[in-house]
Amino acid sequence: MTLAQFSIAQTSLSWSKDPQIEARVEKLLNQMTLAEKVGQMTQFSIGTPTGPGTGRSDYKEMVARGEVGSILNMTGAAQTNAMQKIAVEQTRLHIPLLFGLDIIHGYRTSFPIPLGLSASWDPELIERIARLAAQEGTRAGIRWTFSPMVDIARDARWGRIAEGAGEDPYLGSAIAAAYVRGYQGSSLSNVDSLAACAKHFTGYGAVEGGRDYNTAEIPDRLLRQVYLPPFEAAMDAGAASFMSAFEALNEVPSTENSFTLKTVLRDEWNFRGLVVSDYGAIAELIPQGVALDGAAAARKAALAGVDMDMESNLYRTELAKLVESGALPQSAIDDAVRRILRVKFALGLFDHPYTAENTDDAQPIPASSLELARTAAEQSFVLLKNATVKGSPLLPLNGGIKSVALIGPLADDGAQMVGSWGGKSTAKDVTTLRAALEARLSQHGGRLLYAKGAELTGTSESGFAEAVNAARQADVAILALGEDATWMTGEAASRAHLDLPGNQQQLLEAIVATGKPVVLLVFSGRPLVLKWAAQHVPAMMEVWFPGVQAGPAMASTLFGDVAPSGKLTTSFPRAVGQEPLYYNALNTGRPPEKIDLTRPPTNSDEKYVSRYVDEQNSPLFPFGFGLSYTTFSYSPTTLSTPTASASALNNDSGNIRVSAEVKNIGTRKADEIVQLYIRQRGTSVARPVRELKGFRRITLSPGQSQRVEFTLTGKELRFWNIDMKNLVEPAQVTIWIAPDSTSGTPAELTIR
Ligand code: BGC
Repeated sequence: MTLAQFSIAQTSLSWSKDPQIEARVEKLLNQMTLAEKVGQMTQFSIGTPTGPGTGRSDYKEMVARGEVGSILNMTGAAQTNAMQKIAVEQTRLHIPLLFGLDIIHGYRTSFPIPLGLSASWDPELIERIARLAAQEGTRAGIRWTFSPMVDIARDARWGRIAEGAGEDPYLGSAIAAAYVRGYQGSSLSNVDSLAACAKHFTGYGAVEGGRDYNTAEIPDRLLRQVYLPPFEAAMDAGAASFMSAFEALNEVPSTENSFTLKTVLRDEWNFRGLVVSDYGAIAELIPQGVALDGAAAARKAALAGVDMDMESNLYRTELAKLVESGALPQSAIDDAVRRILRVKFALGLFDHPYTAENTDDAQPIPASSLELARTAAEQSFVLLKNATVKGSPLLPLNGGIKSVALIGPLADDGAQMVGSWGGKSTAKDVTTLRAALEARLSQHGGRLLYAKGAELTGTSESGFAEAVNAARQADVAILALGEDATWMTGEAASRAHLDLPGNQQQLLEAIVATGKPVVLLVFSGRPLVLKWAAQHVPAMMEVWFPGVQAGPAMASTLFGDVAPSGKLTTSFPRAVGQEPLYYNALNTGRPPEKIDLTRPPTNSDEKYVSRYVDEQNSPLFPFGFGLSYTTFSYSPTTLSTPTASASALNNDSGNIRVSAEVKNIGTRKADEIVQLYIRQRGTSVARPVRELKGFRRITLSPGQSQRVEFTLTGKELRFWNIDMKNLVEPAQVTIWIAPDSTSGTPAELTIR
């Protein structure tokens, strides 16, 4: 850690070690009865009409009796204030409630889904978005968000890949910290600060087969190397809370996992914030097979250090009895309550428990927020293909285009644009692509021919003829195809097939068959299998679910007001059978180098290598990949020294500077995301074929070049070695500065 980083971590964590707060916590704790303590450890969801465990009607009574410490899913200053008044005025110790909500990619203003935001590779942008979400959410009475989701996800079948920052721990850590900084602002005690919650601790992204809530098996080294770093980064940025995950990790459900929750989080990392269970997860210890009844489940979770029970109602009903019978030590309760009160004091809830009632969710979204939403969407788009049609790249669409056919179920569906955690944005807040293109074309005397063509799912081809007709009459066809945001992406939305759903593929083929130039916009919460499209469609752009400014952002990008600059943070497969698929994999003893994998093997040399006999190994579009409307050239990578010392690096000296010249050799100004990768060989354990260790977004005008320099320190070069020590080892290191995870001219470093 540099001195500057160290001092940031000091300030961001200062709430957790504030002597005044500690004194107030102890004083209050000493006055509390066992029942009051258990009340603080209890959280209920009020306000969601559906979901497990909902439907009670005695919340006010429970709050008045001091049996509830936190509420989730209740929004609006008037509503939260009314409930808060009961807690503050009617309970013996006047302890305020903490209101939590999933503010994931915006509250009033819906931004692109997190996977889309990660494609911007722009932590500063993400911090601004989280700050705005905090300002909006706190005005509605919320002081705690269940975000960021920092689960590394290597499997596109898992629907929740949409909610995170992709497959890489280095980028994921930078983004995790950005969310926390944005939510929590300069001090947790500010009335517009949201306590962040790093979730889901841990390994949830590795559920087998990509099936949600399933089991994960992650060896300790991989856990520390890949899955834990974003959590640690969130903690270092000051995150006030963690959420334990649903899944069993290495046969131990995360809700009772004392290795992750105690050994790692409390003992090694010294995390002093609170841990909340996931929704109803304490009760799920019973079907998971580690508890025979609610009492056993509550005991195991409390012993492991889950401080607050989200919705399962088992802490409320069981904990006091467990303590009274001696089955659970009083200290387990006291420690949990300390951590909960610490966060409540840090948020200033005791000093200002109420929210000013001067705004509501029905107010229109201000122009400045819409502008941020549009910028975010523009930066999230990833141009996957842009072939030459009639002598020039199809995109951006040029001024000569007079008529555009806009086809597909996602061209004019505002509700879909806000994704699976759309906050309070509704379809009315969204400008769809159809609306944006109509406005744009009418200004220039152009014509938009809109035809839905097909539903998101289903088999009816009744709309095909109209769509084909529209394409025939137009200069270009834009297809808006993809997934259903709420049913196919996010939680409980695992997919075994990664194709375009319903008959959208058939619709696409019918339009391509007209011979008109086609631009395919892919709306999805995950990498899809786009093999046919990549062969037959001249231009393709991944647009995720872009939020309220979906239409304007797409229109400005399609017509070239802005150049796309996003890069993939997940590998896009050629076939589902490649999953889990990720760039930072280990090499095998039989890498299929110099073998043509585009066709089946024809002899044993071609066959007995690590390959599929019926598909290539590589992704269709790799991690880090994304095109622009200009072209960038990269010089070879150069190093400040060809040799370095492991012991110096382990003592935080002897850093290596790495640089390359990046030049805009195209014709327009654009942003490029420059990436630094390493590979280490000769080490005590095998290291990935590439690992991201730096990135930078730069802007270059045509002809302009910039030398981009990174510093490799011990932090980047350390790994968990054969003795489970996080150290720099002597190694041969190949280093690339590159536009994606598969290219670049390498340089060699020897660490002695
Ligand atoms: C999800 C969490 C979420 C919680 C509260 C759970 O089902 O797994 O990510 O924060 O619900 O809504």
